[in-house]
Amino acid sequence: MTRDEILRWLKVADTDDLERLWAAADATRHRYVGDEVHLRGLIEVSNVCQRSCAYCGIAACAPRVERYRMTQEDILECADKALEYGFGTVVMQAGEDPGITGDWMAETIQKIKHRTGLAITLSLGERCEADLRAWRDAGADRYLLRFETTDPDLYRRIHPSLPGGVSDRIHQLLRMRELGFEIGTGVMVGLPGQTWETLANDIWTFRDYAMDMIGIGPYIPSPGTPLDGPLGEMLQVEAATEQVPNDPLTTLKTLALTRLVCPETNIPSTTALATLDPASGRANGLQRGANVIMPNLTQSKYRVLYQIYPGKAGLHETADITAARIRNQIETLGRRVGVGPGTSPRMAQR
Ligand code: SAH
Repeated sequence: MTRDEILRWLKVADTDDLERLWAAADATRHRYVGDEVHLRGLIEVSNVCQRSCAYCGIAACAPRVERYRMTQEDILECADKALEYGFGTVVMQAGEDPGITGDWMAETIQKIKHRTGLAITLSLGERCEADLRAWRDAGADRYLLRFETTDPDLYRRIHPSLPGGVSDRIHQLLRMRELGFEIGTGVMVGLPGQTWETLANDIWTFRDYAMDMIGIGPYIPSPGTPLDGPLGEMLQVEAATEQVPNDPLTTLKTLALTRLVCPETNIPSTTALATLDPASGRANGLQRGANVIMPNLTQSKYRVLYQIYPGKAGLHETADITAARIRNQIETLGRRVGVGPGTSPRMAQR
């Protein structure tokens, strides 16, 4: 598929064409990564953040956010649950929190590895080379860092760099790959100012860098953030008729096309998609290219404070219920829960 074909397919609205797209994505998923759905347990380690991303509900500038950072004991309790539920991986995610020091996280990684043997994924934002190296040495296997959009101008406006630095997430991902991490990235669909052309470029970029994991979710406006206010309005006006909508359909088209151009990659059916379409978002994702789900393991008292966007699916559930519900959903679709770490085929071949 060429970049122009991706662009054309993104804009498709005809029901028959869409059915063809869904069928092709599902068949490609089946052929390249099989019927297993890998479960990665999400641990929301901290909602402290030093960045001012214009889309995010826990950005440094976000008002009225009660901040928390888990203790190692809290994190280990979640990791034990992952083992108990038969998940192959834990994903530690947080705001870009300087209070999560290199040493403390390295020790946490070692403890989880020692206790559970699970694969460990990190999603802790943009960190210095020394931290990344220490975490890899401590046993971390994967790193998730979405590049959010390939439009450099839009990126600068929604994801300001820290003073004295320039944020280049693709460069950081490639550096992580050199350090031996499996690398995961992704974008939000329907960001104000995102054009069809940009979205096609995003998909093309996933392919170009052969990303191991790709997370695609709709942008969900977070009240009180700049992107939900004047900045968002201004960007939308600039994109005019080329503005991509932030709806489930466009998200699913993006996901399906990503599966077609990156057949072997691990693609989650995201919580953001389930949030916009609680009845069928998860299932649709799994049937249109996805092969991963990231059930939330975070303790309820923290979970309610990690609101990067409002109304997050599963916000008021316990981890037990989330795990059981998702397992049931996978089986209802005639799929199997994956066993083992679910390493990306590209890494497994090495
Ligand atoms: N601090 C880490 C983790 C951020 S949360 C980092 O910056 O990488 C993980 C992802 O959630 C982000 O990369 C972004 O793509 C997504 N996200 C943030 N705010 C969102 C919103 N309002 N709507 C939808 N997705 C959002």
